[in-house]
Amino acid sequence: MTDLLITNAVLLRPGSTPAVQAPGALLVRGEEIAWVGPADMAPVPGAGTEVLDARGRVCMPGLINAHHHLYSTFACGLAAPPSGDFPAVLRNLWWRLDSALSLEAVHASALPPLARCILAGTTTILDHHASPRAVRGSLEALAAAVRQAGIRAALCYEVSDRDGPAVAAAGIEENVAWIEACRSVPDGRLAPLFGLHAAFTVGNGTLTRAVAEARRLGAGIHVHVAEDRSDQEHSLATYGTRVVNRLADAGALGDGSVAAHCVHVGAHERRLLAETGTLVVHNPSSNMNNGVGAADLRALLDAGCRVGLGTDGMRGDMLAEASYALVLQHHRAGDPSAAFPEPLDALLLTNAAFASRLFGRRLGVLEAGAAADLILVDHLPATPLHDGNLHGHLYFGVTGARVTHTMVAGRFLMRDGRLLTLDPDAIAREALPASRAAWSRF
Ligand SMILES: [Zn+2]
Repeated sequence: MTDLLITNAVLLRPGSTPAVQAPGALLVRGEEIAWVGPADMAPVPGAGTEVLDARGRVCMPGLINAHHHLYSTFACGLAAPPSGDFPAVLRNLWWRLDSALSLEAVHASALPPLARCILAGTTTILDHHASPRAVRGSLEALAAAVRQAGIRAALCYEVSDRDGPAVAAAGIEENVAWIEACRSVPDGRLAPLFGLHAAFTVGNGTLTRAVAEARRLGAGIHVHVAEDRSDQEHSLATYGTRVVNRLADAGALGDGSVAAHCVHVGAHERRLLAETGTLVVHNPSSNMNNGVGAADLRALLDAGCRVGLGTDGMRGDMLAEASYALVLQHHRAGDPSAAFPEPLDALLLTNAAFASRLFGRRLGVLEAGAAADLILVDHLPATPLHDGNLHGHLYFGVTGARVTHTMVAGRFLMRDGRLLTLDPDAIAREALPASRAAWSRF
């Protein structure tokens, strides 16, 4: 494989020193970054080295989405009855849509959002999948689409009792089969988690069986937690305990587990999430869209929680999601100083640390020895940029600028704005008939 020297770039390196290197250069060798530093100290390119002049544009680590639903694509434009609260949104839209997915639809629905990820510079996702009429083989159908796209993805099937015991058992089996498949052929791009839908659709028998299998296989659990107030009301009425207490008692939390949302958690639950090292994933645009409330980032962080960032299937653009998180915290608190670095730190530091452990390589950093997962953004800083004001530039300069190049493991998935692994016309040809068929079953 030819070496690639990216030169004359504004290197944005959150978590590294210096955090801003301009003009900077970076050498990619094989699947890794071999060298990073000032452009005038860059290794002299050999005969076999390709040189890419970034012309003063931004180069930064590929972005990581810690909670995604690729299957949600087919909801775009779908007419569902008006829903006055979150349980109605689930009943009227999501549980009807996921029940309409065949294996073919699972594959076809994954391709458009994977293309969106690459276009937005998202190089790793943690997906949470449901297709209760097509459980067995659904994760392999997703994996085939992910392999085609070339990004990294941690997949899981969201086990639930809402479709009866046979579907719950099939969900457990699908997670087990997927985890075993990942363990037998580790490839660095696909990783396993064990999925649970949410506490209010998983009874104690299924919860116990699922956690036992996840623990036996050493996999973390990916579950929706207290997204809406109704999750807590159900837990108190049915089990006499709060959602996080119940999940902790069952052994579902831990430093490999992902608790998406945590909008409605109390002080004791925040302490449990912190003590177990569970990754709490904030999904601001989804929470606003569903009208479920706003997670209290300050309280979660003050309790010692690890807080990451996801989109909950809303989109693939993580820098936009960080900006939503910022304005939501300001709006929630009625205080424009309520948050500033926290949403970007969730995205660029916490997501990166969790994904690095999950995929077994350093992700989300521009450092020698890290995976060559990086993006170029068509943004020329118009104001002074230095280590002390990187966050301001990311929120108000880089966000919204066009990503031109996306690389995963040293391979370009997009170059000069052109997708190299996915063909938008072919995606539409596959997705349109599959979505029509799913809508007719809806
Ligand atoms: Zn979700």
